[in-house]
Amino acid sequence: MLTPELDAFITRMPKVELHVHLEGSIEPRMALELARRNGVEIPARNLAEVQKLYRYRNFSEFLSVFMSLTQVIVRCTDFEQLAYEMGLTLARQQVRYAEVMLSPMQHLLRGIHLREAIVGAATGFARAERETGVMVQLALDYGRQYTPAYAWYVLEIAKELRSHRLVAWSIGGDEIHYPPEPFAEVFAAARDAGLHLMAHAGEVAGPSSVWGAVDVLKVSRIGHGIRSVQDPSLVAHLRDRGVVLDVCPSSNIRTGAAPSWEQHSLRTLYDAGVLVTINSDDPPFFETTLTDEYRRVVHHFGFGADDLCVLVLNGVRASFLPPAEKARLLQRVEGELSALRVELGV
Ligand SMILES: [Zn+2]
Repeated sequence: MLTPELDAFITRMPKVELHVHLEGSIEPRMALELARRNGVEIPARNLAEVQKLYRYRNFSEFLSVFMSLTQVIVRCTDFEQLAYEMGLTLARQQVRYAEVMLSPMQHLLRGIHLREAIVGAATGFARAERETGVMVQLALDYGRQYTPAYAWYVLEIAKELRSHRLVAWSIGGDEIHYPPEPFAEVFAAARDAGLHLMAHAGEVAGPSSVWGAVDVLKVSRIGHGIRSVQDPSLVAHLRDRGVVLDVCPSSNIRTGAAPSWEQHSLRTLYDAGVLVTINSDDPPFFETTLTDEYRRVVHHFGFGADDLCVLVLNGVRASFLPPAEKARLLQRVEGELSALRVELGV
């Protein structure tokens, strides 16, 4: 139950965000500002109309709004501004560390050089870190519908830009029609290049997609993975191998990936001993924040303070930080959580 004390704990507890998209974090005000500045046509003339766009009725409407609003991000400084404001938003929620995905093909196909996007984002996050202390690293989330052909080109650029906070390689996009297996060689090359690996899987496609991501792509983290429950042997495999599921509850409800809160598999996966983390995906599009996601999992799944601490610490342990930095963050977050529990009596 969400008592006032638990509510305060959720607001103030240190957090980690491992599944959130840069392009999916653009707030209506900035979308309007960038559209005007860059002379990009969007189907809205003022803030009220942009806000209305975020109230799509179904998944295809969501995708078309998402794609049209991404078009407003054009210059290196746009990526910088977006990242900077995102960093501040994360810091306000007491996020100590985040990994943010950037979708390379959405920009490459518009003639934007990936360097502009990655360097811009890294610069914005560096400024947010200087001002607030929030630490953010980047991952490239390649759209699987573009096939492995272009992934090799993107990966070459990624290798050159690793010093700009780029630590991970992922696939997202059309999971139904583009299974993970054809990406095996690309993922092996990304791993050889020193990038950490994850994949969107088990969000809209079933267990075979998760099996492929784990056994063939050899990822250590899965984005969503909620459909893994359909295969008990997969659930056992995830638990035994320590594969982490980065779950985004409101996203799953809003996109229809989960039919309802009652039928969402988060609690079942957690109770089965699978390592899960709580994340926000595309917060303004799903009318949520990371803090709200924690409130919602308490409300819908009956998690208590002990569980919240487990979920936060899962995030620290699953992060793609170097071991020494991870150990430091773990110690800091554990200390902050304990002190806050004593202060609030939760
Ligand atoms: Zn995602």
